[in-house]
Amino acid sequence: MSARIHPFHGGLVLDGRKALSTRTPPAPVPLPERLVVPLHQHIGAAAEPVVEPGQRVLKGEPIARAAGYVSAAVHAPASGTVVAVEAHPVPHPSGLSAPCVVIEPDGEERWHEGCRGTADWQALAPEALRARVRAAGIVGMGGAGFPTHVKLNPGPGRAIHTLVVNGAECEPYITCDDMLMRTRPQAVLEGARIMQRILGARRVLVGIEEDKPEALAALREAAGGAPDLEVRAVPVRYPSGGERQLIHLLTGLEVPSEGLPADIGVVCQNVGTAAAVRDAVVEGKPLVSRIVTVTGGGVAGPRNLEVPVGTPFSHVIAHAGGYTDEAARLIVGGPMMGFAVRSDAVPVTKTVNCLLVAAREEVEPARDPRPCVRCGACAEVCPARLLPQQLYWYARAKDFDRVQDYKLFDCIECGCCALVCPSQLPLVDYYRYAKSEIWALERERERAERARRRHEAHVARLERERAEREARSRARRRRATDREARQAAVAEALERARARRTVQAEGGHAEGDGAEDA
Ligand code: SF4
Ligand code: SF4
Repeated sequence: MSARIHPFHGGLVLDGRKALSTRTPPAPVPLPERLVVPLHQHIGAAAEPVVEPGQRVLKGEPIARAAGYVSAAVHAPASGTVVAVEAHPVPHPSGLSAPCVVIEPDGEERWHEGCRGTADWQALAPEALRARVRAAGIVGMGGAGFPTHVKLNPGPGRAIHTLVVNGAECEPYITCDDMLMRTRPQAVLEGARIMQRILGARRVLVGIEEDKPEALAALREAAGGAPDLEVRAVPVRYPSGGERQLIHLLTGLEVPSEGLPADIGVVCQNVGTAAAVRDAVVEGKPLVSRIVTVTGGGVAGPRNLEVPVGTPFSHVIAHAGGYTDEAARLIVGGPMMGFAVRSDAVPVTKTVNCLLVAAREEVEPARDPRPCVRCGACAEVCPARLLPQQLYWYARAKDFDRVQDYKLFDCIECGCCALVCPSQLPLVDYYRYAKSEIWALERERERAERARRRHEAHVARLERERAEREARSRARRRRATDREARQAAVAEALERARARRTVQAEGGHAEGDGAEDA
């Protein structure tokens, strides 16, 4: 395959505003008074707590185990005491609460003895390496939060030839991956090599947007010209960091609609995930902290910070200089795909890559939607080659079959269509609504199907019990009839015997008496 870049359809060139937060290297945030660690920080089943209030824990000690294969373990981000296992508000657009383990750090930062790594990971089998990734609770750190061990196990029949490492970081404002690549290029590449070994991939391709020259130079130098590991610059065009878009940019391959990269022999992992894999395998450290970009015109000292999982947003923002008078909105993630939260009393999780404190002038003015004018601008910029206006009409009409015919689930919610729409239609809101309705219907169908199966099993059991009762009753009746017949036969025989004795006593002879009565 050639080393050229294969541009994807659509996309937009946006004002990156990245320089705001890249003036200083990431610095550690001091421990807060309390860490609130959610049990559900990933796609899949929530982890199950294994600690109780009052229990002392060491840094890196498991505090919740994975509840199934598509789940991720959770570890103590600091040594201290568990003070509660309870529901707490978590980062979510709705402001919902979810179960969390609350820890009061003791400041000693003593690591759990189970946190042991090995520099000689090449000596370990792929399965053993994958088990270490799983035990460390690593999830995709680019924002999706899919458990990494699952992605590193594409299953039999899916040979992986290429590992794509995503350092594109295309969304405006966010710079945590850029700063990670600048400061820890060896860790990123060693993590990539470990994942390459797990997957048995022939080559590694690292994709970085051209507006990160320092990161490109650092990774290229760390790569040292290895023939099976290439660091490539990709054009600055949002959403080049979308999994499908980056795979296309680097390989020219298209991930099939509703398919997975593994279907075409590719696995894509974020640079932050790669570094976390390296830290888990080489140093034995589970995923207990991450780099978070704190930026925007509403924060006094935009920068990147190394933040323990469970640290309240308010604490992180305070260590970036605090709010300015201009602060108007707090967004988790970037301006295109992030979501606003109403409170900063929620904790950083494994997938929180950016806290954008938007100043008044950075907040998008309220939309004034007008009817669609069928201009087609949305389709021109859609990187998934969808027809956003059709999706909008069918989502709005609640025609969930048609909206799926138009491949709603290929929509990556990048927001390009809504940004260019002259009618200011909140297109992505409609797509999210349609997806959640379809998932709800799907869950309802599954519930109804389970209920139907339960009902059928119940009816079958009643029918079986009725049939068994009837069979028992028939058998009882048969036995009674047989008994009566036997009793009648005995009575008859006795009667005949009595008659015989009477005849003999009278000296007569009963006709037909003989062997048949014996
Ligand atoms: S950009 Fe807006 S107005 Fe134009 S076709 Fe798409 S939805 Fe309609
Ligand atoms: S949000 Fe969805 S429909 Fe709109 S441009 Fe992005 S991928 Fe296409």
